[in-house]
Order: sequence, then C-alpha cells, then structure tokens
Amino acid sequence: MHKYVIMGVQGSGKGTQATRLVEAFDLVHIGVGEILRWNVQFHTKVGAQVRRTMEAGLLVPDDLVESIVRTRLAEHDWNYGFIIDGFPRNDRQAEFFLESYDIDAVIALDMPDAEVQRRVLSRRLCSKCGLDYNLIADRPAVEATCDACGGTLVPRPDDNPAALAQRVRDYHEKTTPILERFRRKELVVTVDAMQSIDDVHADIRRQLGVDASG
Ligand code: AMP
Repeated sequence: MHKYVIMGVQGSGKGTQATRLVEAFDLVHIGVGEILRWNVQFHTKVGAQVRRTMEAGLLVPDDLVESIVRTRLAEHDWNYGFIIDGFPRNDRQAEFFLESYDIDAVIALDMPDAEVQRRVLSRRLCSKCGLDYNLIADRPAVEATCDACGGTLVPRPDDNPAALAQRVRDYHEKTTPILERFRRKELVVTVDAMQSIDDVHADIRRQLGVDASG
C-alpha cells in the first residue's frame, strides 16, 4: 500500500507525475482540481458554487474540498493506495488531513516561479474528455484537436496571467508553509521538477525507496 500526497507550484507536473505513479503502482489518483473541473463541466450544484472562484484563481471553501476528499477516500477502492494532488493547500486543510489519514510521503516537486508562466500558459485541455496537452512538450497530432476523442482543445479558464498570478501567490503564502509542517514530520521528499518527465519519475521512485531495482 502506498499513500502519497504530491505538491508543487502550478505547472510543476503534479498531474503528470501522479499519473506515472498510478500506472506503476496501480494507485487511485485523487485530483481535487480535476474533480472540481468535472463538476463545472457537467453543471452540477457543486460546479455552480465553485465556477467563478476557480476562474478567478482563488481557493474554493475548505469545507467543500474537505468533503470531496472525504467522500472520495470513503469509496475505499484504493486497494494498492492513492496519490492526492491539489490537497491539502492551506493550514486548515493540512490539519484536517493529518487528523483523518495516515500518509507515507509527501512528494514536493521543486520548480522556480520563472518557469511557471511558460509551462502553464501552453497548457490545453480537451473540452470533451478532459485529457491534457502541452503545446511545448505534448502537442496533439492535429492542431487544437484531441488525439483521443477529437474534441476541441481549449486553455483552462484559470490559465490566464491574472488568475495564474493569484494561484502562485496563494501557493507561496498558504501552501508552502504546510510543506514545512510535513517536513518536520519527515514525510517530504523533494525532487527537481526541471528534469525530464522520465527523470523526475525515476528520482521520485528512488527517493521513496520504490525504484525498479527494489
Ligand atoms: P488545480 O487543478 O490543482 O490547479 O486546481 C484548480 C482550482 O481548483 C484551484 O485554483 C482552486 O480554485 C480549486 N482547488 C483545487 N484544489 C483546492 C483546494 N485544496 N482548496 C481550495 N481550492 C482548490
């Protein structure tokens, strides 16, 4: 059983690396932002509550995200473990999380802010199936078209310079301090996110002591 949290500034590759770990260890991926975007896309009640907040790059209420995480983990479909990305993001969420769940490690992806804009503003999402692309590293075969379902690729509404600046500010003001809290519990492994996707993955596994060589 592997129970991980993955943290890092916007564009540091949390989703990409979480997916790689899911494939390697058969984990369940709990992407809180992804769950919220699904709710917006399908016009649920939660979606209506959070759409504007998300578009402005602001954090949605703690009660709501905590209940999303609690409900998702209560499904207990994670026989081999889970990896949570996008949570916890502030002190209160960290408190809730540490009181409610045991985790094995927090993976911190380290990346300078100077790289954030370049990566995030080139990100595209399929408007139909939600698959993500990057115009630098992971271009679709046909421009602006999803390879998997043919849907149109669009930027995320919160991947614009103003909302992004707000999100990065929140990351440093609210999320970085909780990384310190996890560090004191000796839960954190820090990985240089400027390496290639494969190298970041290998580095994570090495530091977690779960690399291919054992
Ligand atoms: P992400 O996909 O992780 O960049 O999250 C997208 C957006 O979802 C954030 O900018 C917030 O508006 C919201 N969100 C995701 N996770 C959280 C969280 N743990 N607490 C509050 N808001 C969140």
